[in-house]
Amino acid sequence: MNWYEKNARDLPFRQTKDPYKIWICEIVFQQTRINQGLNHYNNFIKRFPDVKTLATAEENEVLLYWKGLGYYSRAINIHKAAQQIMNDYKGVFPSHYEDILTLKGIGKYTAAAIASICFNGKIPAVDGNFYRVLSRVFADDFDISGSKAFTYFSELAHLILPDNVGDFNQAMMDLGSEICKPKNPVCIECPLQEDCLAFSTNKISDFPVKTKKVKMENLDLKYYFVHRKGQFLIQQRKDDFIWKKLFEFPISISIDLEPFVKGVKVINHKLTHKNLQIEIADVEVNSEIVWNNLIRENKYIITDREGSHEKSFPKPLESYIQNTLKD
Ligand code: SF4
Repeated sequence: MNWYEKNARDLPFRQTKDPYKIWICEIVFQQTRINQGLNHYNNFIKRFPDVKTLATAEENEVLLYWKGLGYYSRAINIHKAAQQIMNDYKGVFPSHYEDILTLKGIGKYTAAAIASICFNGKIPAVDGNFYRVLSRVFADDFDISGSKAFTYFSELAHLILPDNVGDFNQAMMDLGSEICKPKNPVCIECPLQEDCLAFSTNKISDFPVKTKKVKMENLDLKYYFVHRKGQFLIQQRKDDFIWKKLFEFPISISIDLEPFVKGVKVINHKLTHKNLQIEIADVEVNSEIVWNNLIRENKYIITDREGSHEKSFPKPLESYIQNTLKD
């Protein structure tokens, strides 16, 4: 705690105890580095400064402000949770851990962070940082990839919780990301060095113990980039796929369009649990009659490079558009 007092990172959300802001920052920074996500966080808060503004916004606009952060399902959940707060809690952010947990997209870690930072709840916000720091300090070989790890490390954390749990949770976040890093921890600057069993026994690389590897799934996708004179066709994904609600190119074309296929580009893209191989066929419709027929069919949205900035696309498709339709 003394170390945190002197070394806390100076971040905009550290100046507030507004649960709404803490919540948004926890979700934004779950998988994004602080300096990468900071601008997005600031823009998001500027446009949606409170629960009500967010709850009453159009979903597509929320997605647009999430552009660049990936994990769009989180933006969809944030939007739904804001509506839940309006409907179930009369617009007031719930203050109890159990109530916060009922909100869409909020798991135990985020609920604990909000409850402790904003409402003085006595709950450790156990995440990968906790697993790493605690398993090293206690040279504890409990497997962090097992389903019981969360309960185990929560109980361990409870044994050392000070009164100010909000600051303690934030101290563990900072210590885990700045000092006790997964690779090359900076033990020489660590305030826990004297008490750290992994350090004193020179076994840091043995902790934390993780036996299960994340299983990667291979997924092949095929798209058609149907375009004419800078305009192209898109549609919004409706099903429960990873890119639900995002815009994408058509996934099939009519036989009439086959003669216009110019070539195919293959893009490899990695997500947390998926290896995607995306095949994009370039379909340049150089017949005005066919193009007009396509427009008349009204099945797709027609846009161009500029219009595409107003919509959220999966990252690889966004890059494809930018590279293909250069000024
Ligand atoms: S001494 Fe090293 S291994 Fe131990 S808690 Fe500190 S940074 Fe982590």
